Amino acid sequence: MAGTAATVFRNVRPYGAERPVDLFAVEGVLAERLPDGAEPVVVEGGGRIALPTLVDAHIHPDKTAWGEPWYSRRPAGSLPEYVRGDVDLHRHQRTPLAERAHRLLAHAVASGTRAVRAHVDVAPAYGLAGVTGLAEARERLAGALDVQLVAFPQHGVRRTPGTGELLAEAAASGLIDAVGGIDPAGFDGGADGGGPAQLDLVFDLAERHGLRLDVHLHDQGARGLDPLRDIAARTKAAGLAGRVVVSHAFCVPELAGDRLAELADHLAEAGVGLTTVAPSAHQVLPFRELQARGVRVGLGSDGVRDSWSPYGNADMLHRAHLLGWTTDARTDQELTDCFALAADGGADLLDLPRVTLRPGSPADFMLLAGECLPQVVVDLPPRDLVVRAGRVVARDGRHLG
Ligand SMILES: [Zn+2]
Repeated sequence: MAGTAATVFRNVRPYGAERPVDLFAVEGVLAERLPDGAEPVVVEGGGRIALPTLVDAHIHPDKTAWGEPWYSRRPAGSLPEYVRGDVDLHRHQRTPLAERAHRLLAHAVASGTRAVRAHVDVAPAYGLAGVTGLAEARERLAGALDVQLVAFPQHGVRRTPGTGELLAEAAASGLIDAVGGIDPAGFDGGADGGGPAQLDLVFDLAERHGLRLDVHLHDQGARGLDPLRDIAARTKAAGLAGRVVVSHAFCVPELAGDRLAELADHLAEAGVGLTTVAPSAHQVLPFRELQARGVRVGLGSDGVRDSWSPYGNADMLHRAHLLGWTTDARTDQELTDCFALAADGGADLLDLPRVTLRPGSPADFMLLAGECLPQVVVDLPPRDLVVRAGRVVARDGRHLG
């Protein structure tokens, strides 16, 4: 069929299978065979492993200093201190935000990421610079990376008057996919700066503009659990099941047994998903227990080389490795589960089709030299080739932009 976009990836091993096969990509999707008369592009896989590309369900590209001169951080231990550090770093960057975000996200593509949910700060200190900057980066990466934008009130809505108006402006701009939130009971609950109550405002915006919600929740104990239950109740009442996510949710790993099961059932029934960035053994979400009870869980990078932390690299295979490290994954199944959270967990959370590498699957995958999937999660081989919708979008660590 003349004009059909078809590519054959010869001699690759899906998920590390022993016997190499050929993968046929036709119009962005994997197919059983090529259509009659197709004249495909041929890419030699050299026996490499083919794995689904990954979904970064939580990243902050607007804050990054990735690729910039080294930034020396001062000690910080509380949210207000971190927030001041963000503003300070923002003011000291010489490279425009859109350029920095693009550089980081292009690196994510080259590392094997197919989609991200990007939280961008919206506050009077920046106006909508993060939203417009990320929209520009998204435009430049169209076809290689899906970018969902969250307008994130990092400085608080109640705490920082003027933020609510900016969120409303962002919601009406058509540039964002979701409205964010932060610690409605702690950081943005107690210190009353005169702004509106946060959850009232963000649920209202989500309903009026048909947007999703993704709320940062660092608070532990009742200050975390009460808002989490409140978010679940509001999600049900507003008919927003499947469109609301709570990020970090450090109050959840504190639970075990019946209390964890009861909360998981509540979140699953309300259609509230969770994301973790696997920051530590005591803060990582118990994702297997949550998923077993029907809760969607995604994995993300969080901040990458920003004012909060010198660490991070927007490499989701490395994040799956860190998830294995923090959860003490040892068996092949446990290591495979960590990879699956980065691949399928994120896809479920962002409402993307899962990549199965079977006919009908999106032709989104990466090729790397290795032995088997668990070994890849441990050894982190370079991503030799990254394919999006059947097209090679990165090679040898470089985005082909
Ligand atoms: Zn975050």
